[in-house]
Amino acid sequence: MSYTYDNQNIFAKILRNEIPNKTAAENDHALAFYDINPAAPIHLLIIPKGAYVNYDDFLNHASIEEKTGFDQLILQLISENNLTSFDGGRGYRVISNAGAWGMQEVPHYHVHLLAGEPIGPLRVKS
Ligand code: 5GP
Repeated sequence: MSYTYDNQNIFAKILRNEIPNKTAAENDHALAFYDINPAAPIHLLIIPKGAYVNYDDFLNHASIEEKTGFDQLILQLISENNLTSFDGGRGYRVISNAGAWGMQEVPHYHVHLLAGEPIGPLRVKS
């Protein structure tokens, strides 16, 4: 399977520092920043620094180090925001949209981390 990556997408520009972002955390393999149009009191986007279009592209092609680094950054954010429901936190939701059915807007793989209030049903049928 081949994936076509558009290196002019907005998150690629953020990674190249061509447009600003409000960074929350970073490591060698991933960057976390605040969503420009937050859907919850805490709405973070976590993106790999490598060029991957979506979740399945990342799973297929990222190295173990990239995958581990990505997950470690998510874990760091869960910890820093006191979200884990096993340690007195009140939980969170992690979402990744892919393609047309997932209604993905930005074609650089990312995970939304949502928290700060009850996030609501998984899906509201339109
Ligand atoms: P998607 O629908 O692709 O899963 O979500 C893309 C997300 O990126 C949206 O929640 C949108 O608000 C956010 N977004 C789009 N452009 C920018 C930007 O320039 N900066 C930041 N911080 N977030 C953005």
